[in-house]
Amino acid sequence: MDPSDLIEKHFPRLSAEKKSALRKLRIHTIRDLIFHFPARYETAGKTGTIAGVSVGADVTLFGTIRKPETRKTWKSRRAISEAFLEDASGRIKLMWFSQPYIAKMLTDGMVVKVTGRVGGTEGKEYLPNPEVDTSPISPEKVHDTLFVKGEAQEQTLYPVYPESKGVSSLWFLHAMKRVFSARAHEKIEEYIPEDLLKEYKLPSLAAALVYMHAPKQLRDAEVARKRFAFSEVFLLQLAMNQEKQNMRTERALSVSVNEKMIDSFVSSFPFKATEAQKQTIKDITDDFKKGYPMRRLLEGDVGSGKTAVAATTAYAVATSLPPNRNSGTLQVAYMCPTEILAKQHFSTFVSYFKDHPISIGLITGSECRKFPSKVNGEESTRISRAQFQKWVLNGEIPIVIGTHALVYNSLSFKYLAYVIIDEQHRFGTLHRQKLTKKTEYTPHLLSMTATPIPRTLALTVYGDLDLSLLDQMPLGRKPIITEVLSEKEREKAYMRARAELQNGRQVYVICPRIEEPDPAKQLALQAKSVKAEAERLKKEVFQDAEIEILHSKMTPTEKEQVMKRFEDGEVNVLVATSVVEVGVNVPNATVILIEGAERFGLAQLHQLRGRVIRSNHQAYCFFLPETFGKNTRERMRALVNAKNGFELAEYDLQLRGAGELTGARQWGVSDMAMEALRNIKLVEAAKKSAYRILEKDPTLASYPLLKHIAEETAKNIHPE
Ligand code: ADP
Ligand code: MG
Repeated sequence: MDPSDLIEKHFPRLSAEKKSALRKLRIHTIRDLIFHFPARYETAGKTGTIAGVSVGADVTLFGTIRKPETRKTWKSRRAISEAFLEDASGRIKLMWFSQPYIAKMLTDGMVVKVTGRVGGTEGKEYLPNPEVDTSPISPEKVHDTLFVKGEAQEQTLYPVYPESKGVSSLWFLHAMKRVFSARAHEKIEEYIPEDLLKEYKLPSLAAALVYMHAPKQLRDAEVARKRFAFSEVFLLQLAMNQEKQNMRTERALSVSVNEKMIDSFVSSFPFKATEAQKQTIKDITDDFKKGYPMRRLLEGDVGSGKTAVAATTAYAVATSLPPNRNSGTLQVAYMCPTEILAKQHFSTFVSYFKDHPISIGLITGSECRKFPSKVNGEESTRISRAQFQKWVLNGEIPIVIGTHALVYNSLSFKYLAYVIIDEQHRFGTLHRQKLTKKTEYTPHLLSMTATPIPRTLALTVYGDLDLSLLDQMPLGRKPIITEVLSEKEREKAYMRARAELQNGRQVYVICPRIEEPDPAKQLALQAKSVKAEAERLKKEVFQDAEIEILHSKMTPTEKEQVMKRFEDGEVNVLVATSVVEVGVNVPNATVILIEGAERFGLAQLHQLRGRVIRSNHQAYCFFLPETFGKNTRERMRALVNAKNGFELAEYDLQLRGAGELTGARQWGVSDMAMEALRNIKLVEAAKKSAYRILEKDPTLASYPLLKHIAEETAKNIHPE
């Protein structure tokens, strides 16, 4: 058996179902199988037989599902799901109330583990609302067949592999047993330099693989995980560092930085720039002076004033001459994730640039605009797409703001020197690559984000970018008052909102859904809908207010009209879905109510809350969760306590490892490496090790395998 062999070669009798399940898990070769790690381990505890259960007892039962079905009760029309669980000793009924999706998850013949408390009466026992594990390991079944004789007794930990329909953890267990006895895992070459393994007391690759799949004790598995986590972070560091080196060999258009002009531009803002803003502007203009392209990440909490930084640095570029020319200017592309946001930035830029002879363009899916208009120098006009393309191509529009349309409208620039990406986590790598693709010159890149990223993660996944932090809020901002209210306390939020409306302020109400829930799903999803809630609020809560709705199914024109009326204060209460999550800026809004708060991610909630910290008025945020489970309570508490997004991110990382903010998938980092990121020491050790190796051997010429694997690792990952 060789690691590069296809699975079928050694497991010739795989069913079609298993084959397709393995394909879904991207397991094609023996090597893929070996690197498919368990997600957790289960201790083989005592489990009872179905015949032995008694009313009131907490039980864990293994068995086969029979006849799963869902019906509605005759009277209350509540959905009830039922199934039987069968083992060699007998069968017991399982029942779930108001959870119709459970039965959909179960199929007849499926082997599961259920946990719950026995209800009913003697002789008529059943399990109400039990938990179901669909990829269980049944200890009885595997106990004697495990590994070599003699070791069987010691095996008390059973690996549980990431869930997938069609292949069970049991199958993996047996498959790995065959792999290990054929010693295929020993044929995979070690790629971490030996001195590093020694220095950090990490197991060799072959040992770590055995520990991973077949640990005798949890400590073995932990040591193995540590090794793989270390190596992943280490490989990323190598890859990122190399990328950084590569970038230095590319050429950027030269931006002339005139400090006096920049200072005077900054002082023309209707506010005093924060020290953090000034420092960031300096970081960026210092990068402009270097001959190679900037790659910088700007992390700034919502409301910290990233747009002003973008405008100032864009100004420096839009006042620089193209190479070997004495007229014309370099160009800037500013890409935003939504049309609302692009328009908003466009009008902000128009106000910042009104005293400068610099044209600004807007391109979205629905229109193209240019400022200033020929007729009226104070305003912008709509122009045709063809005209727009022409003016961008010949360099007449130095600053172009837009949505994805920037990338997809065969827009070509004459002298694109600087790309700004707002809310970068909203874009794919592809967008960034398309915009910054190299021609003779590679544009400078500023990625801006309000999604707070813990420092360890930033070091790891953004290792090739330099980091600027806007960690200071504009002067005079009052910390937002956040409260979590139960259904009974709802009136408290309305009282506050009415008081603010009386003072001329505005209110957001966020709902998880657009329309009334589908009646068929009513039981599963009772989330408030924008449309129904707006009607209810008008009738019962804010009778005197002008209420409007905003959601993603509206046309761009409709959305724009509503936003405009909200900005102008004609609309007092905006009932919206999370479309207002990113960047929308209406400083006069001081209250936000978030319905069904537990349905949103932490990062999203933080972003939403950010909508009302845009002025010096005291702002209020009310979370109104529909349910108050332990998880919800913990998350809400974090939001109430965290002073800023960075704290929230660190908290989230500690709380959950691969948490919501730091969702591993978003960055392409494995769950395991994510977990390792809780450990700043490990990250720093990996960083130091990578740095030491590259210092000696910048191209990794003497580590061909390491180089290859690092490159592969880098391909799978990138932040945006
Ligand atoms: P974000 O970082 O979330 O993109 P914005 O750039 O939209 O934040 O700025 C939020 C609000 O704060 C805007 O209304 C902007 O005009 C204002 N602002 C920005 N910088 C300052 C500052 N230094 N002092 C006061 N207000 C500021
Ligand atoms: Mg912004």
